[in-house]
Amino acid sequence: MKSIADYNKANFEAPTASASLARGTGSLALPTLAPKQQKPGFAKCSNNGCKKIFEKATNTETACNFHPGNPIFGGNEKRWACCPEHAHWEFELFQKIPPCKTGNHVDELEHFKQLLQFRATASEEEVGLTGNVHAQMGY
Ligand SMILES: [Zn+2]
Ligand SMILES: [Zn+2]
Repeated sequence: MKSIADYNKANFEAPTASASLARGTGSLALPTLAPKQQKPGFAKCSNNGCKKIFEKATNTETACNFHPGNPIFGGNEKRWACCPEHAHWEFELFQKIPPCKTGNHVDELEHFKQLLQFRATASEEEVGLTGNVHAQMGY
């Protein structure tokens, strides 16, 4: 299992665990339900714009194409914070915006556990800062 320290190492651009976690899903909000267990050796990726089932053994630095930024739905316009040049009105087109970043898939179960751990120690303020993104996404 990866520790938070390993996670930070993997996401060396992120200065803190919270920023690193926020980058992973774009939110520190917990899903209402724990992620489903996938079949042995497989996991679901929690990265924005990916969310694919991947084989853990083949998870390399270039396995995942994703958006590190949050989804922003302002008025009718939908875009990723990391890709301001792409904006769409249609949700379908928004979903097809090509991911701008390559990296490792993030096991959503591990990510969920880390979020639980983080929220157990984080201040209300830290959690509140990014905790409303999933509400905007509608889940
Ligand atoms: Zn992007
Ligand atoms: Zn992925």
